[in-house]
Amino acid sequence: MLRGTHLIAGQWIGGEKTFTNRPVAGDADTFAVGTVGLVDKAARAAEEAFRSYGYSSRAERAAFLRAIASEINARGDEITAMGCRETGLPEARLVGERGRTTGQLNQFADHVEAGDYLDRRHDPALPDRAPLPRPDIRMMQRPIGPVAVFGASNFPLAFSTAGGDTAAALAAGCPVVVKGHSAHPGTSDLVAQAIDAAIRARGVHPGVFSQIQGGDRAVGQALVQHPLIRAVGFTGSLAGGRALFDLCAARPEPIPFFGELGSVNPMFILDGALASRGGEIAAGWAGSLTMGAGQFCTNPGVAVVIDGPEAKAFADAARAALEKTGAQTMLTDGIADAYHRGTDRIAATKGVQDVLTTTCDMRNATPYLFSTTAAEWLANAELGEEVFGPLGLIVTARDMDEVIAVARSLRGQLTCTLHMDDADSAQARALMPILERKAGRLLANGFPTGVEVCDAMVHGGPYPASTNFGATSVGTLSIRRFLRPVCYQNIPPDVLPEDLAQGGGLS
Ligand code: NAP
Repeated sequence: MLRGTHLIAGQWIGGEKTFTNRPVAGDADTFAVGTVGLVDKAARAAEEAFRSYGYSSRAERAAFLRAIASEINARGDEITAMGCRETGLPEARLVGERGRTTGQLNQFADHVEAGDYLDRRHDPALPDRAPLPRPDIRMMQRPIGPVAVFGASNFPLAFSTAGGDTAAALAAGCPVVVKGHSAHPGTSDLVAQAIDAAIRARGVHPGVFSQIQGGDRAVGQALVQHPLIRAVGFTGSLAGGRALFDLCAARPEPIPFFGELGSVNPMFILDGALASRGGEIAAGWAGSLTMGAGQFCTNPGVAVVIDGPEAKAFADAARAALEKTGAQTMLTDGIADAYHRGTDRIAATKGVQDVLTTTCDMRNATPYLFSTTAAEWLANAELGEEVFGPLGLIVTARDMDEVIAVARSLRGQLTCTLHMDDADSAQARALMPILERKAGRLLANGFPTGVEVCDAMVHGGPYPASTNFGATSVGTLSIRRFLRPVCYQNIPPDVLPEDLAQGGGLS
């Protein structure tokens, strides 16, 4: 059952002002609007919790993460039903996303138990070294303190209340204050109840997790500026992320803002692949582009090809595949409105031709396909800005030199894709050093939607794909965002942190 309130350090707290969600079916639910006062209360409780939680054992934290996963599963049907109502996403998608969410929590439990993430190093003392002796020097990664988390509208579970940022921070030993997304407050409410139950079951300090619902942008702004918050994990739009990033940088004591933002995820379809299987790639592209109404940060919005009959056949095949896709409900009225404005913007850009244009109701989206030349792309930087939804743009280049110029012109991306046959290796080798500098993940002969949660995943990239190109928000490496290296010089073993004492697994 919904609480309709905020969870602040174990207490469910309401307020006078309320807002409602906008479910696609059924009556709206009412939620308390967040306040700046609650931000302060949550941040203070998080700092207090850090004094115990930041020094908890890895086994204790692993058990806590597993308890959260099992409490989410215990409420699985209720969470899925609410998520479907609030986002319009189909049940199968949200059941899968719940599996990903609990899978991440369990994966982090295994990861902290294994302990490799501590990156423990030891340079033993060299008392007889000349001309100067060397002291005993050890290093280990330590948690940074309270972390603020902002989830995105398009992943109400996996990038939200108990999503990847929260799992990584809690695994590291950092308390979390979540700013609930106003697009799915009911889903966030139910997931926070699961975390609350896990806190009680495991006897963890209640300040380790708080959630303040939205309804007022001042809440998020106060949260990133609160002096006790040590870092921010954010998934969302470039505009929102940039606004909050700037606030973090302007603090008297600036803190890292790990913003995972948008991307157009270009695909380069090289000559051999275009000739031998252009139609197949076009059909696959249409599927990836329209999945979940195109509301994925990894949506491949741009396809680059060399002009000619094969490029024309590719565009025809993509149009034919996209025409079969019906209207899909978008996550919010605001996102639908932004999509319609985005399609109008691209259509009105000089040198852009319509390949497929459609019409639909306000909160629905149908696919759009446009084409332009590499020369027009290079002259219109705004063609490289994300339109969140099922919009594709084919960029036709005269030759490989123009393809390379398009690659060089790219802003930071989450992903870049090569479609290539064996005969395309030379073209691929020419592009790789350029694309490596543009994106966090490079892939061949696939589509970037569907991000594997694993040890080697990088979900990030140079700005504006993210605000911190050294980080990933998906996979076990994402824990590094909430750790910092501390060096211990000549600290006696009985004073060292437990993970470093008695060698800490090191000789
Ligand atoms: P959003 O509008 O930026 O919202 C994200 C969160 O930030 C919400 O809690 C929102 O508050 C808050 N916020 C936004 N602007 C703010 C401001 N000026 N001041 C204070 N708080 C602010 O993003 P979204 O529409 O939920 O998500 C869609 C976007 O996320 C797309 O661009 C997509 O590509 C991107 N995305 C990226 C990834 C990735 O991993 N890179 C993953 C998924 C989605 P409210 O609740 O008040 O709106």
